[in-house]
Amino acid sequence: MTGKAGPGAVLSKALVALGCMEHRGACSADQDSGDGAGVMTAVPWKLLGVEEADQAHTGVGMAFLSQDMQQAQGAMKVIEASARKKGFEFAGWREVPVNEEKLGKLAREAMPKIQQFFLRAPGITGDALERALYLFRRSLVVCFREAGQMDLGKGTYLCSLSSRTIVYKGMVRSVVLREFYGDLANPEYETRWAIYHRRFSTNTMPRWPLAQPMRLLGHNGEINTLLGNINWARAHSSDLNQQCDFDKLVRPDNLSLLESCDTQGAEGLEPVVDVAKSDSANLDSAFELLVRAGRDAAEGLMVLVPEAYTSLPDLESRPALQAFYDYHSGIQEAWDGPALLVFSDGKMMGAKLDRNGLRPARYLVTEDGLVCMMSETGAVPIDEGRVKERGRLGPGDMIAVDLERGVFLHNDEIGQDVTSRKPYGEWIERHSLSIPRQPFAQESMMDQVADLPLQLTKFGWSLEDTEMIIADMASTGKESTYCMGDDIPLAVLSSRPHTLYNYFKQRFAQVTNPPIDPLREGTVMSLKVSLGRKGNVLEPNEENARLLRLESPLLNSAELDLVMSTPKFPSRSLSTVYPLTDGPEGLRAAVDRLCNEAVKTVSGGVEVLLLSDRLGSDLEGELTYIPPLLAVGAVHHRLIEEGLRMRASLVIETGQAWNTHQLACLIGYGASAVHPYLALQAVRDWHGEKKTQVQMESGVLPRLTLEQALLNYRDANEAGLLKVMSKMGISLIESYTGAQIFEAIGIGHDLLQLGFRGTPSRVGGLSVSDLAQEVGGFVAKALEMRGGAGSRKLENYGFYKFMVKGEYHHNSPQLSKLLHKAVNGDGDISQYELFSKAVAERPPTTLRDLLEIQSDRPPVPLSDVEPVEAIMRRFCTGGMSLGALSREAHETLAIAMNRIGGKSNSGEGGEDPVRFEPLKDVDQATGLSPRLPHLKGLRNGDIATSAIKQVASGRFGVTPEYLMNADQIEIKIAQGAKPGEGGQLPGKKIDDYIAGLRSSKAGVTLISPPPHHDIYSIEDLAQLIFDLHAINPRARVSVKLVAEVGIGTIAAGVSKANADVIQISGHDGGTGASPLSSIKHAGSPWELGLAEVHRTLMENGLRGRVLLRVDGGFKTGYDILQAALMGGEEYGFGTIAMVAAGCIMARICHTNNCPVGVATQREDLRAKFPGTPADVVNYFAMVAEEVRGLLAEFGYRSLDEVIGRADLLKPREDVALTKTRALNMDFLTQLPDSRQDRAWLRHDGVHSNGPMLDDDIFESVAPAIAQHASHRETIDIVNTDRAVGARLAGEIAKRYGNRGFKGQLDLRFRGSAGQSFGAFAVAGMDVRLEGEANDYVGKGMNGGRVVIVPHPDFRKRTDVSFPDQVIAGNTCLYGATGGILYALGRAGERFAVRNSGAVAVVEGAGDHMCEYMTGGIVVCLGRVGKNVGAGMTGGLAYVYEDDAIASSSLPFDKLVNTGIVKTQRIQTKAGDAQLKAILVDYLNATGSAKANVILKNWNAHVGKFHQVVPPAESSVPEVKDANVKASAE
Ligand code: SF4
Repeated sequence: MTGKAGPGAVLSKALVALGCMEHRGACSADQDSGDGAGVMTAVPWKLLGVEEADQAHTGVGMAFLSQDMQQAQGAMKVIEASARKKGFEFAGWREVPVNEEKLGKLAREAMPKIQQFFLRAPGITGDALERALYLFRRSLVVCFREAGQMDLGKGTYLCSLSSRTIVYKGMVRSVVLREFYGDLANPEYETRWAIYHRRFSTNTMPRWPLAQPMRLLGHNGEINTLLGNINWARAHSSDLNQQCDFDKLVRPDNLSLLESCDTQGAEGLEPVVDVAKSDSANLDSAFELLVRAGRDAAEGLMVLVPEAYTSLPDLESRPALQAFYDYHSGIQEAWDGPALLVFSDGKMMGAKLDRNGLRPARYLVTEDGLVCMMSETGAVPIDEGRVKERGRLGPGDMIAVDLERGVFLHNDEIGQDVTSRKPYGEWIERHSLSIPRQPFAQESMMDQVADLPLQLTKFGWSLEDTEMIIADMASTGKESTYCMGDDIPLAVLSSRPHTLYNYFKQRFAQVTNPPIDPLREGTVMSLKVSLGRKGNVLEPNEENARLLRLESPLLNSAELDLVMSTPKFPSRSLSTVYPLTDGPEGLRAAVDRLCNEAVKTVSGGVEVLLLSDRLGSDLEGELTYIPPLLAVGAVHHRLIEEGLRMRASLVIETGQAWNTHQLACLIGYGASAVHPYLALQAVRDWHGEKKTQVQMESGVLPRLTLEQALLNYRDANEAGLLKVMSKMGISLIESYTGAQIFEAIGIGHDLLQLGFRGTPSRVGGLSVSDLAQEVGGFVAKALEMRGGAGSRKLENYGFYKFMVKGEYHHNSPQLSKLLHKAVNGDGDISQYELFSKAVAERPPTTLRDLLEIQSDRPPVPLSDVEPVEAIMRRFCTGGMSLGALSREAHETLAIAMNRIGGKSNSGEGGEDPVRFEPLKDVDQATGLSPRLPHLKGLRNGDIATSAIKQVASGRFGVTPEYLMNADQIEIKIAQGAKPGEGGQLPGKKIDDYIAGLRSSKAGVTLISPPPHHDIYSIEDLAQLIFDLHAINPRARVSVKLVAEVGIGTIAAGVSKANADVIQISGHDGGTGASPLSSIKHAGSPWELGLAEVHRTLMENGLRGRVLLRVDGGFKTGYDILQAALMGGEEYGFGTIAMVAAGCIMARICHTNNCPVGVATQREDLRAKFPGTPADVVNYFAMVAEEVRGLLAEFGYRSLDEVIGRADLLKPREDVALTKTRALNMDFLTQLPDSRQDRAWLRHDGVHSNGPMLDDDIFESVAPAIAQHASHRETIDIVNTDRAVGARLAGEIAKRYGNRGFKGQLDLRFRGSAGQSFGAFAVAGMDVRLEGEANDYVGKGMNGGRVVIVPHPDFRKRTDVSFPDQVIAGNTCLYGATGGILYALGRAGERFAVRNSGAVAVVEGAGDHMCEYMTGGIVVCLGRVGKNVGAGMTGGLAYVYEDDAIASSSLPFDKLVNTGIVKTQRIQTKAGDAQLKAILVDYLNATGSAKANVILKNWNAHVGKFHQVVPPAESSVPEVKDANVKASAE
């Protein structure tokens, strides 16, 4: 915010705005200590009493010191002495006046001593002084070390040290900041600008220093690429030291003072980045370095957080912009993730949004020079009549105020200024070299591999890899799809050899940093890489443009040839093979040799280092190899250590890379490009096989040339790589490279140190020599093959499909048979015991199989143990959607769970309202009901509603009535089978019934978007939880997460976001269709997730706030008890519940051919469904009885008594693993001691939103709702009034369903509405807002009307063009299933995303309009952003484009994503009439001048509309009528 300096004018406005942002922050366990709030302003010299003459050469430090007075004084002495030593005059300390009474308990306990200090540097001013202060601050760590006071150094934190800016912040709530810091309430505090921030901490636990703003910026969002950025920053730093670039910070205007600040190398300075700091703090440090090195603030952020420039439709007309970003993309990987960044260096302030536009950012400018930017409009009280511009930041946009010149700058002005400073285009033209994609036909003979089966065997291939992975990718261009989750032993537990990749699990974004959508929003992503020496990012120069650029990291041999033969970029190949005779201990030595050679080679000037495991002529089998993943990881880290990493790129040529996970691992650990020579040869081999050719001939496979097959293979892998990156919210492969976004499961310390430093590995595992043994297993098989002893056919390890002699699968047909025998009829407990015994005796498969329960007390009589009914109440089924399952299976499971008092979960497909009422019409003799005629074994009183109703990203069937019929509402953030990806329902499983429930089109495949478009950060999740509590205050809200490292902190955030229940799913779950690599390689075991969440919540006093539910492969009572001991309170059953209902484990669920009618929509197969509710009840009753027996045996009387008692778990001594003895289960067994205090097990009732505006409104409208009457009311509204209308909608839907209310609520609001205005509106609600709205207007609305027009005072202005003014935020109408939205102004990004029934008119919109729409009509009368209609499979859009719009934007056809939709002019009378009727209604509702002009001269204007049409709508009368042409033509 900038404006007039007048005492307190700007600051007091900023503090008011901060107060309005309280709901975007969070508090600690005491509900009082904020996660953080703060302000950055100009230094208030008057308040601080610094004479005007001294101000220019004085710096002010704001210091947090130790709480201990003596220690604080010690730190102060070090700072004083060090400052003097560096040449500053130390001008004194000032105790900052604070009122600690205002702090929450936890904040007070952690409160530092807060002092300001003043440093004078006579003769130095401006930027030079800022650099001196910066270097002094960073050198303090050394000063403390030299003074022997390292502890004091660690306890000291400088919020700011500057002559221009100062930061006041703390672990406080918004309104407390001003009450805590007396200065902020002091009228002497003068500043012309201020930045305010309220923190919701999710990736770290709250601490005083982590409050924001940081030193230069405030950050709302997450940095997904953090680990990679830190590694690369380390790599840059060491290179910078050698170039003495820190000296370049000392410009000609520096005096000896600066030189004495130890600029001779980083050793004298605190590191720029540090894993111990938060993502925001690290980004701030990287940004500060650029600024202090001389880049201006705007330029610095453009370098670090570039926009998605390659997807800009008008890029061709902006060559300087393209050149700027191209140049920097080679030397600085993006800091990527959802981010609204607000910054100031005291000379310029501004705000920038991430490339995807994932955070809200609204601004306004008044005629008297006030500029306000805020996450939510309405936060700053403003005279509406003085506003002259209302805008928002679009993806990648920046606005700024030049504080020295007093000028407001828009995005384009900033871009033009920054990009014209250097001739980046010329530099690239002169020095950069690009290698375009080469046809496979051009490949050299390098890929001709002798004895392919032998080599494949040696590198660990299984027959499934060639017959499934290679064949599917080569024939379809897509990854293999499979179902039913991953049910084989973890690689470290398996007795079969695995490649090293299988010990690494992909991490993924959930809640705090969303995945992105590589299908619908792939335009922001890029696989382009650059090779060669990476220059100094601090100083742009011509030399830095010298890079070798590739289109993709996946190389064929022709491309590799070009890379290796380009003289301008010296290259060298290093072999990663070594003699087999070196034995298992030889691996470490071979890695050391390789690393030494790499160091030598790169030191000698080589810029492209190829690591190759080609065995050449080694058909005699004398050689083995370093696993390529270890080779790349080890060399990458060694080069970083040696300060050489930026001088060369790593390229891998390997026979051990054939699927997307393996490629992602190689790149994630540092490879810039990969040549998978054996995989390419395997494709050739597959193509040449007789069987393949016959299948092509017969049409079983598409007819493909070899070139096409190879291209398909590459396409599939590239799409897979984009998907893996997108799971983590990363858009650019350069940012993914070296980011190490994996968790190791089964890797020991020495191996981790050798190649994977920084990767979490919580249970230890394989040593380097263990790994060598495992590789040796592959080599031995190859030797057998060579010697003729083994078959020439590849071994089938059976990792994917169950086979009798293959790997163990815990969901096997045999186990299904045992269970069926147990559950059929009245239930046979002896059969169940056989089933349970088979599970207990399985080979070690999961981590819990290594643990046993050892009680600390004698047994108790069984009769003392709580009853089966109490235990079954804790049972739930997994979220399996209707669509994935048949009606029969879905309803049978629901009825069974309702019978036992447990909870079934609807999954994400909606639910038929016929299921919401209990059955009363069952024929007791037959067990049949006319209402649900397809079910068997029914009883009167049965109810088929799912107690848990899921709200997933696709929002299928999420109507107000659906939500009001839930006991619990589950927000599915991720799913076990494919965390980080959306659900997937093949078109052949979507019949009219399923499509009707989902408001989609029969036969059209549905792949849900991976992100919830209303959860791009934790505060968004808090908002969605708020919305759901608002509509249904009686339903608990649960949040479903998937286990991964870091889930504890995420869960802490979720609990602070007011969730009632957290569900933790294991990586092994999943019933529906999923890409095979996702099933196998993403997520972690639930044991690790549950233990981490329970521990973190206990340690932070948050455990009582949430109930923990867990699922993942549960089968028996022993599973339940183990989960209870690790902290689980409720237990989910997925696959096994399906088995109880009749599934026989044929594992073809994704094909719609399930032979027993469980997972199919084919009527003939559904008729074969064998299950009854009683079968399912039998199963759960037997599990519960088993739990009772175990409790009695262990001496406990209820599950409540053992939950969290991990002290009763001990490692089993009777288990011997084949691969290692080094697994350590402490992570699962060493949980906080909870033997005494059990209060955390008492959870309050459903969490409340607290008082809401809707409560007041409801009081006055309740009689009208009760009587189908009318009611009219006018209400003032402010941005803190959120989800207005939701509660009313819920009350109406509860009584009358979605469409049954016959009355009319006419509600008129004036002001700025908070988020989710009009959410879930239903028929009979007419809501009108005069003012402006924030994000999510009309979210989930089903009926009624929402109208938004500008505030009357603003509307009076004659100098404002209202179609250009932003009136509503992002993601409006998300998941709407009906109703009308009219907005007289522009809306933000993703307007009408996932709309399936609403009609909307808006005067302009941002990017991604109508994304993934499946129904409804959208009319846009003004400019739209790019990517219109991405993934749109239903509904229509009309977009107006006259000459004025065309000249201010790009032609509409360049803004449309034509992947699915096509555009045309209106061609039918029906289309003409439809549009006209909508516009007439819109004009009547809003008085829109633009609609008026259009309608007045309809025939002249109707031809200026484009109609956006998905294929499923191509035959509707509004689109196609061969006989009648519309007037437009
Ligand atoms: S029986 Fe049906 S539900 Fe079970 S695995 Fe096979 S296809 Fe899937």
